[in-house]
Amino acid sequence: MKIYSHEKQKLHHPKSYFSRGQMREPQEKPERLVELLKAPEALGLTVITAKDIGIEPILAVHDLDYVDFLKHSYDQWMAVDEEMGEEVQTTIYMANNNDGLGILAKAAKYQADGSAPIGKHSWTSIYWSAQTALNAADSLLNDEDDQNNIQICLTRPAGHHARKNAAGGFCYLNNAAIIAQHLRQKFKKIAIIDTDMHHGQGIQEIFYDRKDVLYTSVHGSPIDFYPVVAGHEHERGTGEGYGYNVNFPMPHGTDEVGFFHYVDQSIETLKLFNPDVIVHVLGFDVYKDDPQAKCHVSTEGFQVLAQKLKELNKPLIVLVEGGYCIEKLNDNFQSFLSGL
Ligand SMILES: [Zn+2]
Repeated sequence: MKIYSHEKQKLHHPKSYFSRGQMREPQEKPERLVELLKAPEALGLTVITAKDIGIEPILAVHDLDYVDFLKHSYDQWMAVDEEMGEEVQTTIYMANNNDGLGILAKAAKYQADGSAPIGKHSWTSIYWSAQTALNAADSLLNDEDDQNNIQICLTRPAGHHARKNAAGGFCYLNNAAIIAQHLRQKFKKIAIIDTDMHHGQGIQEIFYDRKDVLYTSVHGSPIDFYPVVAGHEHERGTGEGYGYNVNFPMPHGTDEVGFFHYVDQSIETLKLFNPDVIVHVLGFDVYKDDPQAKCHVSTEGFQVLAQKLKELNKPLIVLVEGGYCIEKLNDNFQSFLSGL
């Protein structure tokens, strides 16, 4: 088993979070990664510092102009005048009919909601989060010994809500999509299984018309819950991708038995697809005391989840994404690791 991370992922430090009609205390804090890193240390596992794979695999999924926005928007925002807030945070949402002339128009185009601000060091963390995920994919592409290995990437900020050309839901670059696309150089069929509390609408959207990348997700019902506009059962893909997008929305308040009922169905879907590689989007926000939780998974539940994935006996890349009950991230991640 290999575990990857990069220290520069701690630099991104959101100051604002506008959600459900009010400004809130940001939940996606650098401390999350500090706590997660305690788990491998406690278990005596080495964490590999990710190396730079480059920008090309990112641009294979995301629009160049959007990536340019993520990289340069902070400087352009601060240069408007002295009244600007300390991070790029739009209050105007206009993805279409917007030529993006001026940084405020670009922010209106590329920020999908109030939960993905861009500060001075955000791009550095965003870039190294993608690189951390890419290290696992690159290892599978280059090293025969890794065929049956399990690789875990501590990725912050997370990725599954990021669209080809928009940030949102604490996400900027869609790491799962980037590595799935990168893996296609060598492998024919990639399955992404998402068990984060929230539906990964960015991944769904990117692969919606394709049958080479299966997306299956267990998540809280999106009715009045993020990402609100996607994640229903009837969203099954389009064209040759029809049937390769499989959603399992859980009623809010689902208990642990119920969670695993949906996870087992999601895994059955994955078995039918018979992928060459499995990418797991792991969210600790399904934990019972998480501020984002709409279900009740226990610490022990993460061990069970890990065992179910390990039993599939395929190359597995785990991307650690959501999870905002900071004081329990260490315990919950240790539980997951012990299941592997
Ligand atoms: Zn989440």
